[in-house]
Amino acid sequence: MMKERLAWQNSGPPDVLRIWYVAPQRLCNFSCPYCVSTGEWAKDPRTDWRTEQDLQDYKYVVHWLGSRDFPIGLRLASLGEPLTSKPFLAQASWLCCQDNVRYVELVTNGSLLKNRLSLFSAEGRAKLSLWITYHPTEIGLERFVENVLSARDEFGCFVVVNALLFPNSKRALNELSKTLSGYDVPLNVDLGYIADAELGTYTYSDAIVPASREEEWKRVAAEFGCDEEMIAANIAGLDDSLGRLCGAGNGYIFIGIDGEVYPCSRYYDLKIGRLGNILDRTFVLPPARNSWNTCMSKCGCSNKEDFLNLQLVDQSRRRDVPSLGWLSRNLARPHQNPT
Ligand code: SF4
Repeated sequence: MMKERLAWQNSGPPDVLRIWYVAPQRLCNFSCPYCVSTGEWAKDPRTDWRTEQDLQDYKYVVHWLGSRDFPIGLRLASLGEPLTSKPFLAQASWLCCQDNVRYVELVTNGSLLKNRLSLFSAEGRAKLSLWITYHPTEIGLERFVENVLSARDEFGCFVVVNALLFPNSKRALNELSKTLSGYDVPLNVDLGYIADAELGTYTYSDAIVPASREEEWKRVAAEFGCDEEMIAANIAGLDDSLGRLCGAGNGYIFIGIDGEVYPCSRYYDLKIGRLGNILDRTFVLPPARNSWNTCMSKCGCSNKEDFLNLQLVDQSRRRDVPSLGWLSRNLARPHQNPT
């Protein structure tokens, strides 16, 4: 353990190691037609944990995360809706109370916030960050906003509302944006994906971003709240990642449902740069070697947790909120065009 701590302290910038862990929790109470949890990584309308071993593995990884002697900021995601699962939340709640954990960010559809946040202690809720995605076909706007405000104002969590831009979602986006405008809630709008049957989301933008097939789509996306610089990073990751400088594997790592550790989820998919497996009882996180590495993936860096590590994002953003998806604008440093 001591070796591990020294390695990360000496490896450059990451004061807090950002980690995106996708746990094998599967139960989901929504049926969004565009869900990107597919194949081996599919959600399930009935089953929370596919096997008892999945739950045990999740507990082991959580314990590992909460017992590091270096600080971590965690996006604790799952294949389903995490708030449907009391076993999932029990572990998340424990994590929030560990000294080395700066924040735990849950990725949720927002439907159960009012019922389930009371499972966290007040100490735990202070470290809880919620990335709450609006799925307009599955939940009414009024109930959604009420839940978001309850999470922030009654439970004291950090919240970001996330929405997805599809050609047919513009009206819902407009209504969401108008409703939230009086409440000072951060609203993030990402490009919606329709996963490819074979490649999932690990492919080019024209295959998975329906909005990009429309004329003048970037202007339209900006009108609907997509941040132009984030779109540029998103498209660079999807279409043109090879050779770009990226901090993944330095201040950030990815952990898959099977405990496998990689610099990012795209490398997990491609089996590049494996760092080991947390479920291997002898696992020690290897030290990061460089602040910036050259990306070895030709395309398909589709997950925001990943592509926000591109150096072109670092030039214009600050990581000063407890989130792997929300970065503040760095007003002190002007944006430079991606090279
Ligand atoms: S650009 Fe994407 S695929 Fe390439 S190393 Fe960075 S996070 Fe991984």
